Amino acid sequence: MPLGAMQDRGFRVTQILDHAAREHGSRELVTRWADGSETRTTWAEVRHDALRMTQALRRVGVQPGDRVATLAMNHVHHLISWYGVIGAGGVIHTLNPRLFDEQLDYIVNHAEDLVLLYDASLQPVVERMKSRWPTVKHYICFDNGEFADWIGAEDGEATWTEGDERDPCMLCYTSGTTGNPKGVLYEHRSTTIHALASLQPDCFHIEVSAVILPVVPMFHAACWSLPWGAGAAGAKLVFSMVNDPAVLCDLFAKEGVTHTAGVPTVWLSVFEHLDATGGDFGRLKKVMCGGTAMPRFMIERFMRAGVDVMHLWGMTETSPIGTAGYRPWNWDQLSFDEQVDIKSRQGRAPFGVELRCVDLDDPAKILPRDGTTSGALQIRGPWIVKRYFKAEMDAAPDPENWFNTGDVAVIHPDGTLQLTDRTKDVIKSGGEWISSVELENAAMAFPGVAEAACIGIYHPKWDERPVLVVVKKPGADVSGEDLIAHLAQQVAKWWLPDAVEFVDELPHTGTGKVSKKDLRDQFSDYKLVTGVPSEQ
Ligand code: ADP
Repeated sequence: MPLGAMQDRGFRVTQILDHAAREHGSRELVTRWADGSETRTTWAEVRHDALRMTQALRRVGVQPGDRVATLAMNHVHHLISWYGVIGAGGVIHTLNPRLFDEQLDYIVNHAEDLVLLYDASLQPVVERMKSRWPTVKHYICFDNGEFADWIGAEDGEATWTEGDERDPCMLCYTSGTTGNPKGVLYEHRSTTIHALASLQPDCFHIEVSAVILPVVPMFHAACWSLPWGAGAAGAKLVFSMVNDPAVLCDLFAKEGVTHTAGVPTVWLSVFEHLDATGGDFGRLKKVMCGGTAMPRFMIERFMRAGVDVMHLWGMTETSPIGTAGYRPWNWDQLSFDEQVDIKSRQGRAPFGVELRCVDLDDPAKILPRDGTTSGALQIRGPWIVKRYFKAEMDAAPDPENWFNTGDVAVIHPDGTLQLTDRTKDVIKSGGEWISSVELENAAMAFPGVAEAACIGIYHPKWDERPVLVVVKKPGADVSGEDLIAHLAQQVAKWWLPDAVEFVDELPHTGTGKVSKKDLRDQFSDYKLVTGVPSEQ
């Protein structure tokens, strides 16, 4: 007797939109456009528009596997284009408009984008770059009526391009903090499983009643999967083209936003706005925050306001969820400070991915989850990159699938992750590792310090010694001695920077992170003046 079997139906991202339209067709999607106007649509209408877009793309010759790029902020036309491109079997490629021209040049040519959709506000970028993008045959503006007319010429009487669940559907490039940008090609399967994982209560907790305002740009790591998760749950989506805190807070209140997501700097500006206006977070229940470490005071403020903080770690390569900052089972038995301690770490692995740390010098040595031993962080799972876009097939792929994240971390006995550095940024002094991140965090907690970055500088005896580069807050009076005295209370003596240098600004990447690569270049001729070897 034959054994039983389950159906062969594979995952396709279009199934998310089909489900949203069928089961939650009247649920709203709101866009606040750059000019302050607002439009509303529904999941059923979004599906119809995406089908029309699929037809329009086929008309201009887009074939399965072709790349269609967007250069745009968050709005519903952008969302329609994601589903429309994927529906035609294409690969939606989100470009980050904050990247430098050289990077945009490299990325579009590397991706061989065929069509490019853009916001009117980014027309100058398009005009500047057009001659350098020979593969792009069609340019369509999202918000001057062109996009609406383009898809409006179609009737939506079409079906999605079907295919294998391992087909590609989306392409995102890393911002190149550590070299040339690299493309990560998401598949229908990886995207759908990742979206399903994001719905869990112990992850983004997206349910049909959720009202989600993703502040994270749609061009950053698939908008952290929120457009997919929202569709899968039938949640309401609220888009804002601008990240002005007054607009965000207005939308929080007016639309009853329950879930939001973004990097820490966004919340800083929201706090300042609320302080100035006396407003509150409205019905906000959950804030997802990652990209860089979330400062403790920020976590405390949200928690005091009854907002659950989901501090997570991830990368473009991890779709991007690597961890989720969910509450442990004994949460209610912990003091407020203990709760904040846990939330200050970078979360734990949700079901689907596995994490481990290995020795920085000997990757064959797997490190204990003891909360103190730091090492190179590795991850594996169905939504983790195997090979970068157009990368050569690896002659000897890792049989166990572990991906080297380039981050340095500690894993605690309860499974929580604590990032301590990036592999390229750790400072090796006398054979021992110094965490640049810990020194930076300690420095940034000092009054008068606006921003701080720590790099290793060559030292004849110790190999490398830390130098702290600091930007003062306007009008602040901070001396190098004050800062060292402050750091001395927090870190081991041999970790103390050999010098503190004050600068007007630090170099940043297109995603707003300090570019240690550029900073190291700026300091390439720097010599430690004291020459006094530090005590180890
Ligand atoms: P890149 O900055 O390399 O372009 P991503 O935008 O994908 O790539 O950022 C991924 C990196 O951001 C991670 O490898 C990690 O170093 C950092 N990161 C992400 N989340 C956090 C977090 N919660 N705390 C500290 N660092 C984080």
